[in-house]
Amino acid sequence: MKRILLWHRNDLRLHDRKDLQEAIATDAQIIPLYCFDPRQFGKTAFGFPKTGSYRAQFLLESVADLRNSLRQRGSDLVVRCGKPEAIVPQLVKDLDIDGVFFQEEVTSEETTCDRAVTNALKSMGVNVKIFWGSTLFHPENLPFPISKLPEVFTQFRKQVEKESETDNLFPTPKQLPQLPDIDVGELPTLEALGVEPPQFDDRAVLEFRGGETAGMARVKEYFWERDRLRVYKQTRNGMLGADYSSKFSPWLALGCLSPRYLYEEVKAYEAERVRNDSTYWLIFELLWRDYFRFICQKHGDRVFYRSGLRGLDIDWKQDWERFELWAQGKTGYPFVDANMRELQLTGFISNRGRQNVASFLTKNLGIDWRMGAEWFESLLIDYDVCSNWGNWNYTAGVGNDARGFRYFNIPKQAKDYDRDGKYAKHWLPELAEVPGKKIHEVYKLEALELKRYGITRGVDYPNPVVDLMKSVKANEAVYNAALSG
Ligand SMILES: Cc1cc2nc3c(=O)[nH]c(=O)nc-3n(C[C@H](O)[C@H](O)[C@H](O)COP(=O)(O)OP(=O)(O)OC[C@H]3O[C@@H](n4cnc5c(N)ncnc54)[C@H](O)[C@@H]3O)c2cc1C
Repeated sequence: MKRILLWHRNDLRLHDRKDLQEAIATDAQIIPLYCFDPRQFGKTAFGFPKTGSYRAQFLLESVADLRNSLRQRGSDLVVRCGKPEAIVPQLVKDLDIDGVFFQEEVTSEETTCDRAVTNALKSMGVNVKIFWGSTLFHPENLPFPISKLPEVFTQFRKQVEKESETDNLFPTPKQLPQLPDIDVGELPTLEALGVEPPQFDDRAVLEFRGGETAGMARVKEYFWERDRLRVYKQTRNGMLGADYSSKFSPWLALGCLSPRYLYEEVKAYEAERVRNDSTYWLIFELLWRDYFRFICQKHGDRVFYRSGLRGLDIDWKQDWERFELWAQGKTGYPFVDANMRELQLTGFISNRGRQNVASFLTKNLGIDWRMGAEWFESLLIDYDVCSNWGNWNYTAGVGNDARGFRYFNIPKQAKDYDRDGKYAKHWLPELAEVPGKKIHEVYKLEALELKRYGITRGVDYPNPVVDLMKSVKANEAVYNAALSG
């Protein structure tokens, strides 16, 4: 009997897998593998933990869930700690494996690793097959080759909506072949991975639990039980609570949920409940996710360059003192600080929050956007290399679609999205006594008022780190100098 090694990475599920279906079709003995790569638990270039507590915990839960689902079907998951380019060839040798299947990635760390694995396998006479499985639309179904991908999202979206079809879901196997005689290995602990255990903060939007089972349960809850899809477009810019948006992102990032599965669920919801602008909008957002992946595939490493996809050489600062104030939620701007504290204490913030804090870092503080992107990489439970670096390129104004110097007006955003100050109060207990309507401009309060609310400026809550309008003007000048330089 032939043996196929199925090497899992950001595809921790059994539903909608072409590689698994193809392996089953060959009647081979399938050996699923997950490798905890020590490089993923090292440090980022600016020295932050590459995988922080929340994501590491979510990853462990996701791998455990995959193992459990495989065991229920008569199979198991082989778990190893080490570099895949050493582990995979060793297993191929030990188990006399005929083929190695894995899912394609597009960014440099992942593709470097793929190449190392493939090179190591070259001389061993195994059949290496790489599958695409992370996007809603398969690259082959796009109306253009990746090299001709439009540089503007709207053009991409319109053409895809008009001309492309999504593929059908691949079925979830009910039974799988037993593994050969092998030590399957234990899952590492967080401690063994060098990661601190996460502290759960009960102010978090959701208690995220990793794995396909929990991901599907969240879909059931958000779409079918709470019936929130029908109002998604109106609520998606919220910041408080579990249901203002889907919260599918952590499961999508690790491949516990397939975007095609979500698409099918939206279609079922439209048939059974309602079809409206909200049901459309969820698919629209999944198209953004696809777009960033394809853009990274098209432009290779450029998404990580200081000058970004656009190649704009802006004179960014690496001001660590101010960066720390931003990262710790101590800028003196409650809208920014509340989001940064939520991020640090839970590993998640809303899309509205992400856009605002990223704008503040780059357009008000003028700090190197890559420091922010790495901070997000470290902390986000839903970190996805393409969505994170792609979105940061956009907000920093170095994206492929950059349209001049654009920034978020923080007080206006606070007024529009946290008018009564509930969100700020949720995360900034030191401002609990300040009336909600005044909280976002706490820096404008008179001495008497501050006294009444029990705040000593600069002691209980920081003074603003910069003047909003002056800093925007100064950074606009730096941006324009880069444009004309
Ligand atoms: C600076 C910055 C960094 C970001 N980093 C990440 C990241 O590392 N991982 C990540 O998944 N998203 C990232 N996003 C995009 C977006 O903020 C999150 O996907 C979203 O907030 C997740 O919450 P949700 O699942 O409830 O989203 P929903 O509003 O329910 O959207 C549904 C799904 O659509 C996709 N999506 C929505 N908005 C975007 C977007 N702007 N770009 C790409 N995909 C999108 C996500 O997969 C999301 O789960 C980032 C945005 C910004 C501005």
